[in-house]
Amino acid sequence: QCITHCPVGALHERSDVSRVFDAIDDPEITTIAQIAPSVRTSWHEGLGLAKDKASVGRMVAAVKSLGFDYVFDTDFAADVTIMEEGSELLDRLGKGGDGPMFTSCCPGWVRFLKARYPELVSKLSTTKSPQQIFGALAKTYYAKLLGVDPSRLFVVSYMPCVAKKAECAYPGMDAAGTGFDVDAVLTVRELTRQIKSRFLNVGLLEERDFDAPLGIASGAGHIFGVTGGVMEAALRSAYYLVAGKNPQPDAFKEIRHEGAEFGWREKTFDLAGRSLRIAIASGLSNADALCAAIQRGDVHYDFVEVMACPGGCAGGGGQPIHEGRELAAERGGVLRAIDAKSAIRFSHENPAVQACYETFLEKPLSELAEELLHSDHVDWSMPCAVCSDGTIASR
Ligand code: SF4
Repeated sequence: QCITHCPVGALHERSDVSRVFDAIDDPEITTIAQIAPSVRTSWHEGLGLAKDKASVGRMVAAVKSLGFDYVFDTDFAADVTIMEEGSELLDRLGKGGDGPMFTSCCPGWVRFLKARYPELVSKLSTTKSPQQIFGALAKTYYAKLLGVDPSRLFVVSYMPCVAKKAECAYPGMDAAGTGFDVDAVLTVRELTRQIKSRFLNVGLLEERDFDAPLGIASGAGHIFGVTGGVMEAALRSAYYLVAGKNPQPDAFKEIRHEGAEFGWREKTFDLAGRSLRIAIASGLSNADALCAAIQRGDVHYDFVEVMACPGGCAGGGGQPIHEGRELAAERGGVLRAIDAKSAIRFSHENPAVQACYETFLEKPLSELAEELLHSDHVDWSMPCAVCSDGTIASR
């Protein structure tokens, strides 16, 4: 009964570890792993691996050692999300919509909004989350590049999130037409169990690169895992789309949180001559207060980012748990540092994303992009729960 009352759909963690190992061991199946931004900040915590050894390259090596054919970066798909969501924002603003547009990459937030504020659901961006955009592109664009029938691909997500296990089975998450675009979702805790079950000594592994092209990402894609990161990444590219030139990469840093207090922040930016009112809510109590204020007409925004977990995915429900210690702020700082050091800081400058549009999607919001990468949230009802056998009980 409790799972039908959980506002974010997080109370139904089921393990998909053996299903994933079965796919890896099947010679007829090509297995693809995607790794979410914040996993790189925490994957070592349950393995007793020192921070200075827990590089991104060693994380990739560890996942490759599990037997996957390809290991890619969800951050590539985060860059595609920005291309679509930034274009959608400008499109909505151009049409004089009655704002705000809400981000929709957090399934905990989407479930909360559908349950508590159904009258606000039309304000959700139709752009799918990076996890789902990756799955849709893996089974269409990448299947074509590989020359493999998409029904022979098995896509596994490594996520900091329990709600993502439900998201991959939501209505419309089968854009490629061969079943669900993402076949299994494993949390960071499950990754730890997998590595331990294969007796991998990760500290001794040679660092490896993500595979190309879906492993190439910008700094903007990396910060999706920290509260405010989606907004900042979107503003960088929205500015470019309006002004025709890049802003300073850190031009919107005022929206970053300081310390471990996560709340509801607001700011007005001048977006190349256009005034844009934005807000960021971290944690569902802040999101609840923000939605109520919007409904009362007390506040007016153009664009709102909400992440259900305090601190964003860095503090997600699928992350390692340390009794009495809250690591979201520290992990988020790691993502900020990776962004600062990235050679590419803008989603629209990611060459792999540019190639994907040039050779496949054509342009943001194209007919194909709408078909594969967007979901009309008003159009479908939230399933109540994912049962232990993997089926979904409808409301
Ligand atoms: Fe999942 Fe939490 Fe991240 Fe939302 S904020 S996507 S619920 S980990």
